[in-house]
Formats: sequence, C-alpha cells, structure tokens
Amino acid sequence: MHALIIGGGVAGPATAIALQKAGITSVVYEAYPSGADERGAFLSLFANGIDALKAIDAHEPVLERSFSGSRIEFTTSAGKQLATARLDRDVHGDLPGPRILKRADLCEALQGEAVRRGIRVERGKRLAFARRTPAGRIVATFEDGTMDVGDFLVGADGIHSVVRRSIDADAPAPRYTGEDVVCGYARKAPVLAPPETFRMIYGKRAFFAFLTTPGGDTWWFTNISGMDGSATALSRDWKRLALERVRADVDPATDLIEATGDDVIGIRVYEMASTPIWHAGSMIVVGDAAHPASPNAGHGAAMALEDSVLLAMCLRDLPDIPKAFGRYEQLRRERVERLVATSAQMRKRAIPAPLQRVLRDFMLPRLLKNGPRNAAPWLTRHHIDWHEKLAAQ
Ligand SMILES: Cc1cc2nc3c(=O)[nH]c(=O)nc-3n(C[C@H](O)[C@H](O)[C@H](O)COP(=O)(O)OP(=O)(O)OC[C@H]3O[C@@H](n4cnc5c(N)ncnc54)[C@H](O)[C@@H]3O)c2cc1C
Repeated sequence: MHALIIGGGVAGPATAIALQKAGITSVVYEAYPSGADERGAFLSLFANGIDALKAIDAHEPVLERSFSGSRIEFTTSAGKQLATARLDRDVHGDLPGPRILKRADLCEALQGEAVRRGIRVERGKRLAFARRTPAGRIVATFEDGTMDVGDFLVGADGIHSVVRRSIDADAPAPRYTGEDVVCGYARKAPVLAPPETFRMIYGKRAFFAFLTTPGGDTWWFTNISGMDGSATALSRDWKRLALERVRADVDPATDLIEATGDDVIGIRVYEMASTPIWHAGSMIVVGDAAHPASPNAGHGAAMALEDSVLLAMCLRDLPDIPKAFGRYEQLRRERVERLVATSAQMRKRAIPAPLQRVLRDFMLPRLLKNGPRNAAPWLTRHHIDWHEKLAAQ
C-alpha cells in the first residue's frame, strides 16, 4: 500500500514515520517551500505526546530540540503566588515532564527524521483537491498542476483543511473564537523565570505566561480577545496590542514585552466542536484537520501525534482501508472531542468576571495544596502500546 500525506506539520511527518513502521510507504506534501516560512508559536509537548513519539522511536530528535518545562507557578497580577505544581512525567516515568519547543522546530525535527528514514518530503506543493478514481485509488491535484496517485490519502493539512472539504463538501468551517494569542521571544529580558518553570499570571484583564530557556531567552504569550477578526485586525501591530492589554494590569508583562524586539507574532484561535465526517472512501483527516482545538489545554500537537500512531496501527492490523478508518475513528473521536471541549472551557475561564476571580484565587491553592498533582490525567497519562494488536469492533 502507498499513501499520499497532505501536510508536513506535526501529524504529516509523524504519520509517514508510523506508516513506514507498519510496512506502508508514503510521500509527504507540504504547501510551504521552506521551514522558515511559518515561525509559529511555542508549545508544550506533554507526556502523552512524547509517549506517542516513543511508540515510533521518534522521540530523540524532539527531545534534543526541546527543554523541560516541568514546573508551573500561578500568580496574581499583584505578584501573589496562588499555587505551584509539578507537571506529569511521561507514563513510564523515565523522561522529564512536558517539553517546550517552537512548533516550527517540532515540524522540522519530524520532517528531518522522516527524510532520514528514507521517506520523501515534497515542499512547495499545495493540494488543490483530491478525488477518487473508479478503481478506488486517490488522485491528488496540486496548485502547480502536478498530480500524484496513491491507495489512500491522509489529510494532515491543519485547521483550514482542503482534505476535510474533499471528504465532505458540507463540512462546517472552524469557528474563530474571538481570541488571538500573541507570542514573543525576548533576548535580554529584565525578568527571568526560575529554571524549567512556566510562570502564569492571572491579571484582571489579561492572562500572561512566560518561561526562560536554558540559553537565557524569555518566551512569553498572552491571550487577546475582543478583536473583530477582520483582515485589518490581522495586519496590526501585535506587540502594541499586547502592551495595551497588559499595561497597568499584569506585572512584569509590560517590561517583558517592551524588552522584546520584532520577534512577536499573533495567531488567530479557531476551534471546532466536532467534524461530522472524518473519512470517506480512501481519504481521512487527522490532527487539526479533524479536530481543531483552542490552544488553552496545550494538547493539539500531542493529539496529532497520537492520531498518527493509532492510524498506522489500524492500517497495520485491520484487513482493509474502510475497516481500518472505521476502527481508528472509534478509538479517537471521543478523546479528541473531549479535548476540544476541555480547551474551550479553559479558554472561557482564562479571564473570569470579578466574582469568579475571587473564587478562583480562593480555590486554586486549595486544589493544588497536596503538592504534585495532575489536573487532567485522562489527557497526559495516555499510553499507546505499538505491539498491541487491534481488532475490528
Ligand atoms: C498559539 C498556539 C499555541 C499552541 N500550544 C500548544 C501546546 O502547548 N501544546 C500542544 O500540544 N499543541 C499546541 N498548539 C496546537 C498545535 O500547534 C496544533 O494542534 C498542531 O500543530 C496540529 O498539528 P497538525 O499537523 O494537525 O497541523 P499543523 O501543524 O497546522 O500542520 C498542517 C500543515 O499542513 C500544511 N498545509 C495546509 N494546507 C495544505 C495544502 N492544501 N497542501 C499541502 N500542505 C498544506 C501547512 O502548511 C502545515 O505545515 C498550539 C497552537 C497554537 C496556535
């Protein structure tokens, strides 16, 4: 069997690596010509994401490019510490807690690993549409007019997936949440976070988080809501917008943002409670193409990696493509939709009303008072055993 994989982000190269381990060849098609085109945000890869990578022996290059962010501190804008927590270790306890890295570095590590294993990764190839031949194969047509044919096609093409629409022309579009995340990378910051620690500050009008890399740079992000979502809003100065939002509210956010040069980006936040149809014939969507979640729970990439491994296992163990896709959906749908819902709730709670704020500041230390605690074990303690044989159900 031979697969066409659309998207060279997180799920695309991970799926290619997992399929190869399952004995299936593939080629990855990525729209952007080079890795530098999309700088993107930084992210935390929790234990379940590392576990999924371990299932396909692809964790080392990601560990090499990332650093540990295993402590979290919650403070108010007045500097009052609400709580601290140690985040989970991986399910086997033999790796440090969440790993922090830029999304672009994660994609590059996975693409590099795919290429090292002999998988073809084609850049600068944007899928225009895909269709099924009468014989049941899939033809992918790219915007440059070229085509390729495979036995099946995996849409790992992210939030605004073309494959999702090729599968179901009536698929709902992802919803802009009204929020944007502004991320910045400061070289010489006036304030440093303690080693391996994510400092999260709940202000009255803004939520601000930062951490310091082992090299001494400080990475930060803040959520901005209430923009109009129009194209003009996109072109505004994100740094100025972030400053306007945090000024006179969250300390030391103003100093950190002011100390940041041009390395500031803004990203629209989309989510989709449910994608009704994940597969049709020999086409399927994985990762954000199937279940875009707001980033608040910090698990979109980890879920994309879990998807990649489980899809390959289904194709390895089930007798044909429709059965494999059906089993994959059975295994994944409930979990990923729960993530989307959880993340949406977290998003709404990030900037609470004054009364809720008092309640939160009262409850948080009590919830975390027993030391190391995992607020969402169902998310992070998810283990995939590559050797488990999957049966149809
Ligand atoms: C601000 C922010 C913070 C986040 N923080 C976290 C976090 O802490 N932890 C976490 O786990 N996740 C986090 N996420 C989510 C995470 O980045 C995504 O869930 C993850 O990248 C999804 O991977 P993917 O491969 O499905 O999609 P993507 O990473 O979006 O990759 C899709 C790829 O497909 C390509 N593509 C698109 N259309 C086409 C086409 N027509 N033809 C060819 N190629 C195409 C794109 O160029 C892209 O490279 C965050 C996201 C944001 C925005």
